[in-house]
Amino acid sequence: MKYSIYSLIRNAFSYHEDWPQAWRSPDPRSSYEVVIVGGGGHGLATAYYLASECGVRDVAVIEKGWLGGGNTGRNTTIVRSNYLWDESAAIYDHSVKLWHGLSQQLNYNVMFSPRGLLHLAHSVHDMQEIGRRGNSNFLNGIDAEYLTPQQVKEMVPFINLNCRYPVMGALLQRRGGVARHDAVAWGYARAADALGVDIIQNCEVTGFEIDDGTVKGVRTSRGNISANKVGCVVAGNCSVLAEMAGFRLPIESFPLQALVSEPIKPIIDCVVMSNGVHAYISQSDRGELVIGASSDAYNSYSQRGGFNVIEDTVGAIVELYPIFSRMCMLRQWGGIVDVTVDRSPLISKTPIKNLYINCGWGTGGFKATPGSGHVFAHSIAGTDMHPIAAPFSIDRFNTGALIDEGAAAAVAH
Ligand SMILES: Cc1cc2nc3c(=O)[nH]c(=O)nc-3n(C[C@H](O)[C@H](O)[C@H](O)COP(=O)(O)OP(=O)(O)OC[C@H]3O[C@@H](n4cnc5c(N)ncnc54)[C@H](O)[C@@H]3O)c2cc1C
Repeated sequence: MKYSIYSLIRNAFSYHEDWPQAWRSPDPRSSYEVVIVGGGGHGLATAYYLASECGVRDVAVIEKGWLGGGNTGRNTTIVRSNYLWDESAAIYDHSVKLWHGLSQQLNYNVMFSPRGLLHLAHSVHDMQEIGRRGNSNFLNGIDAEYLTPQQVKEMVPFINLNCRYPVMGALLQRRGGVARHDAVAWGYARAADALGVDIIQNCEVTGFEIDDGTVKGVRTSRGNISANKVGCVVAGNCSVLAEMAGFRLPIESFPLQALVSEPIKPIIDCVVMSNGVHAYISQSDRGELVIGASSDAYNSYSQRGGFNVIEDTVGAIVELYPIFSRMCMLRQWGGIVDVTVDRSPLISKTPIKNLYINCGWGTGGFKATPGSGHVFAHSIAGTDMHPIAAPFSIDRFNTGALIDEGAAAAVAH
């Protein structure tokens, strides 16, 4: 069913009790052309583009829990493309361009809101970093503006510019913003399902069928499924899946946390990030302040992090915005982020033929969901990796062609 004002009116007559299910819940079949492991945004987007653009509709998405229950439904939804290197600019801006028409394309409101995003600078080093990155953004055709402290104050009137690390300037990307995280998973799921993709929840992949160095399928908690090609898109669990297939990834998994406040009237209409004091903030459409913390210092697979990290984050927020010092926090949660040494993702073939991986997005992969799914789908469907995906091969850790986004990615997404 197409969602529209007419379907809304039609369903009002039956008190909205007859809306059809957004997607089916089929039992897994014994074989598919392509199996995607992981029902987060990236996995679902991959399935959608396989079916809609690559002519591959015999696809299953296998998810051990519920759709978007991983990092997709746990993130702070920041979208931007102002990274340093050309390779990153290509993939993140490809994504931002797809975000702009996504609600219409999926016929599902993903609530993309390009409200502008500020990176604050608090030191000479920060100023040099935003200067270098902003120039690189210009060269890559990505919008970037430098703001003086006074211009920052005009955008965020209640900010405390003269805090312990005074605000010296900022980098602004006006096309950056936020989107609704669950809606992205649900929108892709619904659109993929409509094209014939089987979305199978509560089904854990427990191993791979590998014959003579070629993947032949997956073992799951609901039986074996054979497939010509398998794509693994499981974020924080990617090393676990790689181990099942018999190879190692240059990735570490850490807990990363976020929290939201009680809802208040609209007070901040952009996103403000600070790597210097390590906190960032935006306001959701419900009025909650959405605050992101840093990752824990230690590896872990638990979806919760240390209280000391939350304490530091709230301290930094109150320093920058004393006006929030008496606000109550409503919820706090964590996800498991998959971090590479150069803070760039892996979109790659693997040592196992026809087994592909898409992971390593770490603290900042939500923004890349459409672009990542798009180039991954084309890579799986074709023989060569998509040109935008190619530099993110696992081989870069052998060749040394790293894409160091340490400063642009940091923890502040
Ligand atoms: C607190 C927090 C804040 C963040 N903030 C931002 C932000 O503001 N902006 C941004 O761009 N990014 C942000 N990120 C990062 C972003 O959330 C992720 O990079 C992105 O969502 C990854 O999407 P995904 O689809 O690859 O992974 P996920 O959404 O984690 O999906 C992977 C799925 O794989 C499933 N899975 C795992 N193992 C198996 C198995 N064996 N069998 C079957 N299924 C399996 C999991 O259950 C999960 O649903 C944040 C992350 C966190 C945790």
